[in-house]
Amino acid sequence: MYYIGIDIGGMSIKAGLTDEKGNILAKESIVTKPDNPYAETVKDIAALCEKLLASAGIDKSQLKAVGMGIPGTINSKKGIITYSNNIRFENVPIVKEFQKYLDVPTFIGNDANCAALGEVVFGMGKGYKDAIFITLGTGVGSGIILDGKIFEGKDGAGAEAGHIGIRIGGIRCTCGKKGCWESYASASALVKQTKKAMDRHPESLMHKIAEEDGKISGRTAFKAARAGDKAGLYVVNRYVKYVSEGLLSLVNLFRPEILLIGGGVSNEGDYFIKKLQAQVTRYSYGGKRNPYVKVLKASLLNDAGILGAVALCL
Ligand SMILES: [Zn+2]
Repeated sequence: MYYIGIDIGGMSIKAGLTDEKGNILAKESIVTKPDNPYAETVKDIAALCEKLLASAGIDKSQLKAVGMGIPGTINSKKGIITYSNNIRFENVPIVKEFQKYLDVPTFIGNDANCAALGEVVFGMGKGYKDAIFITLGTGVGSGIILDGKIFEGKDGAGAEAGHIGIRIGGIRCTCGKKGCWESYASASALVKQTKKAMDRHPESLMHKIAEEDGKISGRTAFKAARAGDKAGLYVVNRYVKYVSEGLLSLVNLFRPEILLIGGGVSNEGDYFIKKLQAQVTRYSYGGKRNPYVKVLKASLLNDAGILGAVALCL
């Protein structure tokens, strides 16, 4: 039997056809049109599924289920997108609408929750029952897996770790509150921290790196730090503290076996992960007397959305 996983993002909608082991047999994508009425988007998604089946030469009757990972608050039990600011959907019965075109069992979930489940079923988290996945990108996304299941709170509105507070009266977040973790630990926050440090340190190597790359990015400070630049290292170490502050709150609340780090910043690899590990090991409640929490780089990368959506169906 076969599955289709759909990753609905603000820029593109990706779909992949897989077997039950998570091997991707075919992939297709379309550009997201956020201003389209939702019924149009759902029709486009259904057409994308038909195209996938046709290109792989697989009959509809062999398709067991479709899973969709969607940013925002997703009511997975009712099959409704409660709220999604990226694609501007509000109270959309997406499962019912989709099944008008393709009558197969269809499951939906928040994209970060899906990615977390995908890692536990197919990726780096395989074999672990308690895992927390954090993605450091434009925002900070989180997926919490407890005892092998997604923890999502009432009507899917929970598990928004990006909005736990780390500073009273801090930077204002897009959610309206001040001092959210996301405002300090996202890749966008890292870019702001880098720019600030560059203004203060005209001598820093970060200026040369940014010029060569044509922009200031989340990589600028990391590149400088690796080359021994003092201001770059300061930015990186401070950023590590911001990320760790939220990770430690999650560790102390849930005591997972592993923390999986995804998103653009995770591409800094071991250099970054080891720094996070040191903070988590040193400051988690009970220290070495309590179970060790392993920090790992997430492994599914670009296919995380598709495989996470497939994991929802299993
Ligand atoms: Zn917030």
